[in-house]
Amino acid sequence: MKLIIKNGTIITAEKSFRSDLLIEDEKITHIEGNITIDNIESIDASGKYIIPGGVDVHTHLDMPMGKIKSRDDFESGTRAAAFGGTTTIIDYATQSRGMKVQIALDEWRKKAAGKSFIDYGFHMIIIETGKTLNEDIAELIQEGVTSFKLFMAYPGTLMVEDEIIFKVLESTKKFGGLVCLHAEDGNEIDSLVRQAVTNGNLSPMYHALTRPPKTEADAVRRAVNLADRADASLYIVHVSSAEALDEIKRGQDNNVKVYGETCPQYLFLSIDDIERKNFEGAKYVFTPPVRENHHQKALWDGIKSNVLQVVATDHCPFNFNTDKRLGRERFDKIPNGGPGIENRLHLLYEYGVNAGIISLNQWIEKSCTNPARIFGLYPQKGTIEVGSDADIVIWDPEMEHIISSTTHHMNVDYNLYEGYKIRGQAITVLSRGNYLVKNGLWVGDTRAGKYLKRYFYG
Ligand SMILES: [Zn+2]
Repeated sequence: MKLIIKNGTIITAEKSFRSDLLIEDEKITHIEGNITIDNIESIDASGKYIIPGGVDVHTHLDMPMGKIKSRDDFESGTRAAAFGGTTTIIDYATQSRGMKVQIALDEWRKKAAGKSFIDYGFHMIIIETGKTLNEDIAELIQEGVTSFKLFMAYPGTLMVEDEIIFKVLESTKKFGGLVCLHAEDGNEIDSLVRQAVTNGNLSPMYHALTRPPKTEADAVRRAVNLADRADASLYIVHVSSAEALDEIKRGQDNNVKVYGETCPQYLFLSIDDIERKNFEGAKYVFTPPVRENHHQKALWDGIKSNVLQVVATDHCPFNFNTDKRLGRERFDKIPNGGPGIENRLHLLYEYGVNAGIISLNQWIEKSCTNPARIFGLYPQKGTIEVGSDADIVIWDPEMEHIISSTTHHMNVDYNLYEGYKIRGQAITVLSRGNYLVKNGLWVGDTRAGKYLKRYFYG
């Protein structure tokens, strides 16, 4: 198909400029001041921004947790993502105990195939390694899985020892991959949780109080040292505190190749939310936890100064009225995770760009371009260039709306940002030139999302 988008203002990580744009066969083929071709469809985007589709590199769709699953699968989750202007995700495939990572990858590819509306890649969560570690890593990289997540938290289930982290860092360095780390000191947290439970401190708030910023900062410091020793690249997921941010900055200042990601929940929510009455605080239980308010300013500063390169969501939705109630009696039984895949661009636009904290270009850089670059999808994704996939969002900077679980498209019964007023909306969304959203209405009739084989960007 062919399509011209006329008179819009194109926004990339580097610049903003008025131009027309031609899409042919799923790609952007021309970006020129004035494109006129007879007999092909043309959209007038006067007064609108033309932005690359968002790239969310931290999602957990259709993810089992104990006896339940995250509520969005690849169908509902990617539909909600598209409504919010996100057209690429990298989801976390997860190894189970005793399972080869190649089998885990097959499982996740089956979950997505024929269901996803947008293109998707996978990271692999490694929870145990054997003699075949190097072969496994090399094989997955061949398959286009170039990033590997390890946990320093959750002893007994997901946590691995530092020695394993070091081995995986060495292996990824050798074969061209990137280690993603969940950095929280699992042993320290476990002992704080046991103390709280023994003392009868069982309400949701104790989820935050038993995971203080120091436990995050200590883990980041250990991780940065390991990456330094292995001379390998490292990506810290969901940075939530000023102290953890300082450790990342210290690493970067010492030439360690460490990237940082944060998420909207750490920029907008705080301890005040997890203290809400009538068990409502359980909605805000995810890890790392919400922090005191002053951390938000530090994280925004980290975004502006480029200590943090990426804003992703860690989308992992559980229903408040059913799933979260599993922890009614004890905070440590509340399923960890919250929804966000639909609202990332909205929130960063309203409270970043409209508030004058970041520029339009930084908005695109943190939510589209940098994630595509770091995870080996650039310039296919994350930018608007001749040759890039035609993943295009037409953004109306004036359209006002209010975020609410009654109107959102995520398959979950609450929204972390209920009632937030936003000026700015994705009104038309294209995935490889095919309409998913047209003038605010869903028109995506084919689940045509493709698996993305990624290369490594070092
Ligand atoms: Zn996560």
